[in-house]
Amino acid sequence: MPRFQFTIHATDGKARRGTIAMQRGEIRTPAFMPVGTAATVKAVKPQDVRASGADILLGNTYHLMLRPTAERVHKLGGLHKFMGWDRPILTDSGGYQVMSLSELTKRSEEGVAFASHLDGSRHMMSPERSMEIQRLLGSDIVMAFDELVPTTSTREVQAKAMERSMRWAKRSRAGFDSGEEHAARAALFGIQQGALDEGLRKASADALKDIGFDGYAVGGLAVGEGQEAMFGVLDYAPGQLDETKPRYLMGVGKPDDIVGAVERGIDMFDCVLPTRSGRTGQAFTRHGPINIRNARFAEDQGPLDPACACPVCGTWSRAYIHHLVRAGEILGAMLMTEHNLWFYQALMADLRAAIEEQRLTAFANDFRAKYQATKG
Ligand SMILES: [Zn+2]
Repeated sequence: MPRFQFTIHATDGKARRGTIAMQRGEIRTPAFMPVGTAATVKAVKPQDVRASGADILLGNTYHLMLRPTAERVHKLGGLHKFMGWDRPILTDSGGYQVMSLSELTKRSEEGVAFASHLDGSRHMMSPERSMEIQRLLGSDIVMAFDELVPTTSTREVQAKAMERSMRWAKRSRAGFDSGEEHAARAALFGIQQGALDEGLRKASADALKDIGFDGYAVGGLAVGEGQEAMFGVLDYAPGQLDETKPRYLMGVGKPDDIVGAVERGIDMFDCVLPTRSGRTGQAFTRHGPINIRNARFAEDQGPLDPACACPVCGTWSRAYIHHLVRAGEILGAMLMTEHNLWFYQALMADLRAAIEEQRLTAFANDFRAKYQATKG
């Protein structure tokens, strides 16, 4: 297997059907990456995550650096061995969570000083430290460290953050390359910033291209701006990036967000929604999400989603899962999460097939019509 090779097999409009080949395996795109925050996709064993159709997982640098620490994971043979997942893992840079979860943050050109949300201990995160942590974890796809500001910030604030992110992208590239053994088998993605401003997005894309990365993320979206504003950016942002490389929309999203983003040329996604929703009683179905705690499911003998091929839907009823979730049984969270992961992976498989067969628009319209039919 090559270190990193992206092949586009088919296109339909702006959408691409591709494969990323890496040493730990192939990633079919468009791809959805389940989130394994603390070296686990919550409530699901790795082999069951794989059985749902996932080719790659996401791990969170911020959480792992604090507990059990990247140094300990490295000592124990790396994240793959530690958690029992031998396929590719993408790690985020830690930046988003340092800036949203930690306390007493202080930003400077060097990086971000912060206090752990777990025990108040002081840490410093910088492009170099982020690259070191992701290397210690043994990540396959490493994300550059960037600075985030709210989309509601002034253009001046956004411009300064974007420019600093590009300086940090350059330092991330150098930090990644200095870990020669790791850099020989892993990939590094840059992150486009610029909030909702087309000019800033273009300047960011050009700066990243000059540095050169294996793939590019559209960053700074899915932070509360709403689907319309997000799609507004996605109408032009993917086209500003190197078309021969994968494009990753971080932290997205709801099923209809994913469909719309694939139509606009996005190749990779991650989101906590299928797993987090599974633990709070929300199941995804072809007709929209349902809340399994609702009394109307108490004697419903049908599966969570009649169109689903997952092991949960093949065995257990809505009534049983309703009972488990209401009773606070751990199995309830496990079954709900497994089903939701299958739902997301089936959606990605359907999108890939639709692109291959040049019928993405018809598929997307049909999906939206059905998915919204019983929403809310
Ligand atoms: Zn199912």
